[in-house]
Amino acid sequence: MGEFALIQRWFSALGVRREDVVLGVGDDAAVVELPGGQQLVAAVDTLVAGRHFPVDSPPRSIGHRALAVNLSDLAAMGAEPRYALLALTLPQADDAWLQEFAGGFGALALQHGVALIGGDTTSGPLTISVTVLGCVLPGRALTRSGAQPGDLVFVSGTPGDAVAGLPLADRPAPTAALRARFEFPAPRVALGRALAGLASACIDVSDGLAGDLGKLGAASGCAIEIDPARLPLSDALLALQPLSRAQELALTGGDDYELAFTVPASSPDLGEIARVTQTRITRIGRVLPGAGVWLRNGALVTQVAHRGFDHFGP
Ligand code: ADP
Ligand code: MG
Repeated sequence: MGEFALIQRWFSALGVRREDVVLGVGDDAAVVELPGGQQLVAAVDTLVAGRHFPVDSPPRSIGHRALAVNLSDLAAMGAEPRYALLALTLPQADDAWLQEFAGGFGALALQHGVALIGGDTTSGPLTISVTVLGCVLPGRALTRSGAQPGDLVFVSGTPGDAVAGLPLADRPAPTAALRARFEFPAPRVALGRALAGLASACIDVSDGLAGDLGKLGAASGCAIEIDPARLPLSDALLALQPLSRAQELALTGGDDYELAFTVPASSPDLGEIARVTQTRITRIGRVLPGAGVWLRNGALVTQVAHRGFDHFGP
């Protein structure tokens, strides 16, 4: 199958059919109708085989994650996702692989109202780059920089599961439940949109909770204090790891695609948002004057050195 037929077959009608797509896949570029009075939110993330996922990952998971990591970025902005573009570099055109990949990508796109409106297809080492476009009302986008001393720090879901779900030589073999947490993360789009206008700052957890909260703190000019006893740990993780190691994985693991965010202490209770978005939300700490990420164990406070994954770090 040639490049043109491949695109036609697998990528010409992926995700939802949106009324506001004037021209989708097939021309030199896509054209969409812009919603009146809203701001465009754009993000792009690349997954490289062997770096962002094991080379033997199921192709359905690769398709799901390629879109999920990008939807997570829009979620962190409190934006409504609408369109995606897919730049796909493949070692070979394998129909069975493409069917699974497109199936994983397409199912998540459908779930979030996203239309695939274009992309690029090339041959080479397996690399997937996805651009997502979405909308937010003016002034409502969540940022990393709005946290203030006194704000409370929250995280969604149960961080640490995804990294525990990666089969690695030096760790106990993951259960199917943990493996699914790495392979099929659920981007917290509904939660992010519910937090727009309420949270003072927000970031999605891709490189590790402590490292990503460090970025939020640095952008806000504040310190973040985490109470490790409050970290929400899944039963699946605790069945596999002792408490201290589970806490460490929750703080440093990465690939969770949960939201970490701050809200003013005077804000209304988040129980209703948790219920409506069907998302577990846990208060794990507070914002303080100063810098860095700190762990409080009773009276003892220690600084977290972990800075999250860095492709060009030491
Ligand atoms: P051009 O040479 O003008 O860039 P292409 O042949 O690369 O055109 O692409 C043809 C059409 O197919 C374009 O609309 C492009 O956006 C779309 N397209 C190419 N690859 C993909 C893909 N992997 N997913 C979605 N759309 C794609
Ligand atoms: Mg092209």
